[in-house]
Amino acid sequence: MIYEIDRNIYRIEVPLAGSPLGILNAYYFRGGEEDFLMDTGFNTAACEASLRKSLASLGYRPERLNIINTHLHADHTGLNHWFLGKGRKIYISETDHQRLLMHYKNAGFKRGDRDQREGASPDLFENMINFGPEKSRRRMEFDEESFVGLEDGGAIDTGACTLRLVLVPGHTPGNAMYYIPEKKVMFTGDHVLFDITPNITFWPGVENSLQDYLSSLEYSKRFEVELALPGHRKPGDYRARIDRILLHHEHRLAEIVGIVGNEPGLNAYEIARRMRWRIHLDENGNFPPAQMWFAAGECMSHLDKLVIDGKVQRVDSKPYITYRLP
Ligand SMILES: [Zn+2]
Repeated sequence: MIYEIDRNIYRIEVPLAGSPLGILNAYYFRGGEEDFLMDTGFNTAACEASLRKSLASLGYRPERLNIINTHLHADHTGLNHWFLGKGRKIYISETDHQRLLMHYKNAGFKRGDRDQREGASPDLFENMINFGPEKSRRRMEFDEESFVGLEDGGAIDTGACTLRLVLVPGHTPGNAMYYIPEKKVMFTGDHVLFDITPNITFWPGVENSLQDYLSSLEYSKRFEVELALPGHRKPGDYRARIDRILLHHEHRLAEIVGIVGNEPGLNAYEIARRMRWRIHLDENGNFPPAQMWFAAGECMSHLDKLVIDGKVQRVDSKPYITYRLP
């Protein structure tokens, strides 16, 4: 499906087969000399075919297409190089730019060491990294020269409008929204989603990513927004949703303190399994491995904040790190 947002600005739904996210929203800006595409989909043949068909129906000009990314995740950046016009640019925050290059070069970004100390058994760990829609990923080509790393407030003139980058770390270390001030339109990426809660995990080199995210949510309230356009699924009420997400994390933090208080000595994976999730368990009543990965990441980002705030204590025990109340 394609929706016209404004003159020369379109929302394109890209189905994400096999992902609970369901739909990625790509946004197409038809400019004068150049065109721009915000976010692209997984690096799979299915996502590519769907997006190409939608863009073709809008009469896009492949050789003139620049790419804009809200953040580094594979469902947003996966098809960048399949759609980038020759000699055109990929705009992304400088922080996510650096992390993305490390990822492409296989030089960073490893979550696994921590997961195996926090309760992921070797079998589960193997399963988790071999599951999920990314399994069908194709070879990733990339050209370092095509990237333009933007700082907070950085502008992109698309011809259809000027977008301003709003840096909102949390979902990723350099996560961004893009704002059109004169239209009060905000492209929220995965910072504010409306019918799912954005996943907040820990990141190597980031001390307290949940706190970063909560601070970014508070900061986001400063912007006047009449139309909020998310990275997945349907648009909604910007301010009401921010308050709802803030409340959600307050409940989550309290829930974890409750679990740790009831059963001291659990590891992060055991805590994650005791939290309430809106997911479909498999036929044995277990977490599907890909979901376990996200749930554990979410749980650990909350534990990090609770430990830093002095509400939960981390114990360096064997074989796993465990938690108890101070
Ligand atoms: Zn994301």
